[in-house]
Amino acid sequence: MTDTDVPQGVRDLLARSNRLGSDPTVTNYGGGNTSAKVTVTSPASGEPVELLYVKGSGGDLGTLKAAGLAVLERGRLVELDRVYRGVEHEDEMVDLFAFCSHGPGGAAPSIDTPMHGLVDHAHVDHLHPDAVIALACAADGEKLVKEIWGGAVAWVPWKRPGWELGKAMRELSAKDGVIGAVLGGHGLTAWGSTSEEVEERSLRIIREAGEYLERESTAEPFGAYDDARSPLALAARRARAAELFPHLRGVASRDSRQVGHFTDSDVVLDFLAREKAYDLVHLGTSCPDHFLRTKVRPLLLDTAPDAPVETVVARLHELEEEYRAEYQAYYDRHRTDDSPAMRGAAPAIVLVPGVGMFSFGADKQTARVAGEFYVNAINVMRGAEGVSTYAPVDEAEKFAVEYWILEERKLQRRPKPKEHAGRIALVTGGASGIGLATARALAAAGANVVVADLDQSKVEDVAAELGGSDRAVGIKMDVSDENAVAAGVLEAVLAFGGIDLIVNNAGITRAGSLRDTAFEDWDLQYKIMPRGSFVVAKAIEPVLRAQGLGGDLVNICSKNAVFAGPDNVAYSSAKAAQAHMVRLLAAELGGIGVRVNGINPDGIVKGSGIFAGGWGASRAKTYGVAEEDLGKYYAQRTVLKEEVLPEHVALAVVALTNGTLPVTTGLIIPVDSGVPQAFMR
Ligand code: NAD
Repeated sequence: MTDTDVPQGVRDLLARSNRLGSDPTVTNYGGGNTSAKVTVTSPASGEPVELLYVKGSGGDLGTLKAAGLAVLERGRLVELDRVYRGVEHEDEMVDLFAFCSHGPGGAAPSIDTPMHGLVDHAHVDHLHPDAVIALACAADGEKLVKEIWGGAVAWVPWKRPGWELGKAMRELSAKDGVIGAVLGGHGLTAWGSTSEEVEERSLRIIREAGEYLERESTAEPFGAYDDARSPLALAARRARAAELFPHLRGVASRDSRQVGHFTDSDVVLDFLAREKAYDLVHLGTSCPDHFLRTKVRPLLLDTAPDAPVETVVARLHELEEEYRAEYQAYYDRHRTDDSPAMRGAAPAIVLVPGVGMFSFGADKQTARVAGEFYVNAINVMRGAEGVSTYAPVDEAEKFAVEYWILEERKLQRRPKPKEHAGRIALVTGGASGIGLATARALAAAGANVVVADLDQSKVEDVAAELGGSDRAVGIKMDVSDENAVAAGVLEAVLAFGGIDLIVNNAGITRAGSLRDTAFEDWDLQYKIMPRGSFVVAKAIEPVLRAQGLGGDLVNICSKNAVFAGPDNVAYSSAKAAQAHMVRLLAAELGGIGVRVNGINPDGIVKGSGIFAGGWGASRAKTYGVAEEDLGKYYAQRTVLKEEVLPEHVALAVVALTNGTLPVTTGLIIPVDSGVPQAFMR
């Protein structure tokens, strides 16, 4: 099913969904679903059949396409009512949706399908707007809804999504003059006879809810501002965030490795400085979308914004223990014999007053969206507290949704994570040659990649090629300058929460005999390669230590470290220093689970800036061959007679770091097609 071969009613549905889904005040990322009922001629019978096109499980309204829709024969769906055995058995209805599907393909129907299918109106929107959820989570939400809309918008007390909620919607939508309903603790559903009508109604309800909150809210919904928790100045805040982030990532990764996202928006910082922040944070979020991503509640640090970092970290670990014990108790309180196993007791959101919010997920997008959802939750709490008292759905219901067997099945359906999923790699010299191939290979293996190199626009281009900010960032970083490295590492940590894997690859070459090598040529090569590798390792070691997640360091050395070609005293001895550093750091960092290995490539002409920038010409002259034949020349003097490519080095980096060699450290692998003189011994 493509976007063009669907009936007009479905095209209208897709256009409406994309409009609604791209406005964050209308619905959060991935939240809500929309539908249209369209009658077509059935290819199977030649008779008219009414179809329900409804957003399938997963996916996002903002980018919804025809392929993301589930297509069901509505008559058959409605008939399921005959086999419905009551609320205790409503989960079994989801399996029956498959028996109502029309034709092949189509997305899997979501648990919200009955809310669309049982309503008789042709178009239905179910959305998660902050302004409406604020009313849905207000202690006297029902009264407020009546006050704003009279009977035109109904109130439905909290009900888990499913058949029962669909039946409630069917009943309400049949009433004259009712255009939609506020779902207690959850969100909004509206209906209409045309796509324009439902869209106009959804937007009107959201606008009127917002206007009401604006007009009626008390001046300070979150209470008095506490100056002792006011934000640090921007530079100090970012420095503090980068200092804490690896510790927080360690805490968030206690059960499984997580990637982080940092936000210090005004909304977050203001909330954290307010009198009611502590109590509200402990009440947790309400809309299922919110708490599935943010966990029942965040971990809130209660240290002063500028407290010494050791004090903050010590307190963090106390709070972590409390958090984990509480989560375990929550699980034990509510679990039943059918509950899936506990999924880990680590927080997904950590709030640090005066600094910001740190959110975590199995990948960057999940981490970012969890943070966005907590901002939604802050908006909801502010709205509710402004006109009433924030009253989220109760804990037992949150548990029922979090450990819902249907939710568990959704998690089980997710594809197996890639080998480097959740890991954060920093590749120096990542904009060209071996570094670029390595950055590509690590990103393809699921890692988040920090591409560090000298030229801002080049690193940005590579990061964009690798998939943009949810996958990679480009950072201008000269490894010969320790201040630039410190600033780059800070940026990298703020981007993803830490670093697990470092590839010291940046390099240049200035070949020459003893007589021809100038002092500055010697110094520059040493500054970039051995000293640059040392500076980067030194800057990242505290990050690795704070995370407590082990890690990998790979130095891209050279065959020249073992067997040097002629007239190359500075470069080759610099490479030997880099190679020896592998053994020294392997011994030193083993204690924190960091493996340190090296790679000795040789003769990589293709894609190498080093060769293109004069070194190729000089080597060709030394060996007496034409420059364009240099790659082949190198291949011919090897055992395997294969030309060595940047991708071969990248493969070696992946193999060294993806868990294939979990107990290997201090190793240097030749990637040179076999140069006997450079065999390791
Ligand atoms: P390349 O020139 O294509 O890439 C090197 C990258 O490092 C460039 O993007 C460059 O801008 C960057 N760089 C240089 N100085 C830097 C600095 N101070 N800070 C940050 N980045 C810096 O070269 P390549 O062939 O891909 O080489 C990569 C590494 O592999 C080098 O360390 C090189 O010595 C080593 N190596 C290459 C070969 C080969 O045959 N190409 C053989 C053995 C070892």
